[in-house]
Amino acid sequence: MTHPELSIGRFENSFAQLPDGFFVRQNPTPVSEPVLLAFNTELADELGLDTSGLTRGELATIFSGNAVPLGAEPLAAAYAGHQFGNFVPQLGDGRAILLGEVRDRAGRLRDIQLKGSGPTPFSRRGDGRSALGPVLREYLISEAMHVLGVPSTRALAAVLSGDRVLREGYKQGAVMTRVASSHIRVGSFQYFAARDDQASIQRLMGYVIGRLYPEAQHSESPALALLQAVIEQQAKLIAHWMMIGFVHGVMNTDNMALSGETIDFGPCAFMEAYNPDIVFSSIDQFGRYAYGRQPGIAQWNLARLAEALLPLIDPDEKKSVELASAAISDFAPIYHELWLDGMRAKLGLFQKEEDDRALIGAFLDGLQRTETDFTLAFRRLGERDLGASASPFLGLVKHDAALIDWLDGYRARLMRDGGDDQARFAAMQKVNPIYIPRNHQVEAALSAAIDEGDLGPFKALHGILAHPFEEKAEFEAYSLPSQSSERVYQTFCGT
Ligand code: AMP
Ligand code: MG
Repeated sequence: MTHPELSIGRFENSFAQLPDGFFVRQNPTPVSEPVLLAFNTELADELGLDTSGLTRGELATIFSGNAVPLGAEPLAAAYAGHQFGNFVPQLGDGRAILLGEVRDRAGRLRDIQLKGSGPTPFSRRGDGRSALGPVLREYLISEAMHVLGVPSTRALAAVLSGDRVLREGYKQGAVMTRVASSHIRVGSFQYFAARDDQASIQRLMGYVIGRLYPEAQHSESPALALLQAVIEQQAKLIAHWMMIGFVHGVMNTDNMALSGETIDFGPCAFMEAYNPDIVFSSIDQFGRYAYGRQPGIAQWNLARLAEALLPLIDPDEKKSVELASAAISDFAPIYHELWLDGMRAKLGLFQKEEDDRALIGAFLDGLQRTETDFTLAFRRLGERDLGASASPFLGLVKHDAALIDWLDGYRARLMRDGGDDQARFAAMQKVNPIYIPRNHQVEAALSAAIDEGDLGPFKALHGILAHPFEEKAEFEAYSLPSQSSERVYQTFCGT
């Protein structure tokens, strides 16, 4: 089924060389009329792909799944997962197909996967397809995450399929091409653990170590070293999310990648007014995946990974449990330090002080009381003279005596911190974005594309989000929080 004329580069297919039980070979199912909506030429270049000689039509043919590029060995991977706390022993790629891996310019293997490219043996009752809205949403948000400095899967292409998909009514179908350091998830290990298939866990572990954490190979217990490395990457990832107000929305164990990249942009959203309890997902009734719960959930998910690795950590079961438990307990202090460091940077603090936690906590409490926009609060704090009565920060917040007192304490802390104010403010504005994908802006861009076939707002938003730290007067509207009339309270999985 490979298409001899269409080549995009050299595929390596290392995952396809794993034993049969890891995946099912599956070609994409062709679509009626593929039209290329977006193609990430910079990413294609980073991947060392050779797509410059291809027409838009040929790119649409490849990235809709209508032709398998030369050398690719498409497959659907098996995985399990805890969804909202309930274990499902078989999920798998129900609407995603891995074309294979390519080696990028930095020498790293990267997965190229189509999403929405037709049914697979893991589709269950699903149609294997994606609707246009979620595809454009993932394209925008995953690329925005990347430029915000957050590890994330990337968006290579979005193609309109020309077919309809049935969701809440009929929608236009589309195919998304995403790129990941690997799509292996916590749920990939759980799949074999649920079958008590230790040989496969061992094999999967070897693959992940070889590809993502080669240094773990030389450890006394590679399984423990892998667990510790993943814990550290996840702690970094969640700290990053918390710094930018990102709410993932479906932190199921099948949506947690071993690479430490953000994966699966379903009902995710960015918080506006600071509120640790905020939830956007329409299906998250109990707030399991609220903004403030994300670190705890990450630790819970990592404990599920530890359980799957347990038999490989140490031959002595008791010792294995002790080592794994200690590693999982370490998540909290590791995360906490990263969170503190991140918040210090957001506040422009170069030195560490004992009371920083309390200082940060009081600031966040103040934002919550005054329902202040999280993103703008930090951005405005890093602007000009804090002592001036016309401080940009105070111009943003509702009157709050405690917050004004807090500012005095903060100024005193900055004095003790020393250093040059100019440098401090410049450093703050490099970590405090002015543009984030605000939900109402994202929805407006998607509506124009879906209802009017107008990609203009999508492209404009994409362009602005590509430079999140550079404020430009003409883009002011994109920096502002939603008015209550345009506020987005819920996002839908809309798969
Ligand atoms: P997600 O919510 O996207 O993380 O998906 C959870 C599981 O449901 C995965 O096994 C997906 O492959 C599967 N799934 C989601 N949407 C579809 C669909 N439209 N067709 C088939 N499988 C799907
Ligand atoms: Mg998923």
